[in-house]
Amino acid sequence: MRLWPVDPRLLCRKHLLGEHVETHMMVGSLNRGISMDGFYSRGLIDTRLIRARHDAVGAEMGTRGYQHASPLSPFIDPRRGHLAAGAGADLCRRCVECAELASGGATGHTEATLWAAAPVTSPEPRRATEGHLAIQ
Ligand SMILES: [Zn+2]
Ligand SMILES: [Zn+2]
Repeated sequence: MRLWPVDPRLLCRKHLLGEHVETHMMVGSLNRGISMDGFYSRGLIDTRLIRARHDAVGAEMGTRGYQHASPLSPFIDPRRGHLAAGAGADLCRRCVECAELASGGATGHTEATLWAAAPVTSPEPRRATEGHLAIQ
């Protein structure tokens, strides 16, 4: 389970739908008292961002024509974890499709292009900065 510190528009289908499912899993784990210490220590989850990421990812799913009919259950936020710097570049190394989205199809993808790509490759103006999470 992990949250990507990446604009949801730049996630490929697999990673978009995957992150959505995982936000629900995180809340399930929190509500069942299951330890997520390993995720916190590796910089994969920041509980303060779970709801915002779920809603942003769900909105992007809707934009792409996928059904999103699963509001996130309530949970008590322990305010734990952080998202590791460099995760965007990590995603690009793991996933050709995400890298392509991030680079706008150009060769070479760095974290910088991942972040810079959003306004450049966006096919149409989007609602303000919805779903855009700042990396610290
Ligand atoms: Zn949902
Ligand atoms: Zn991907």
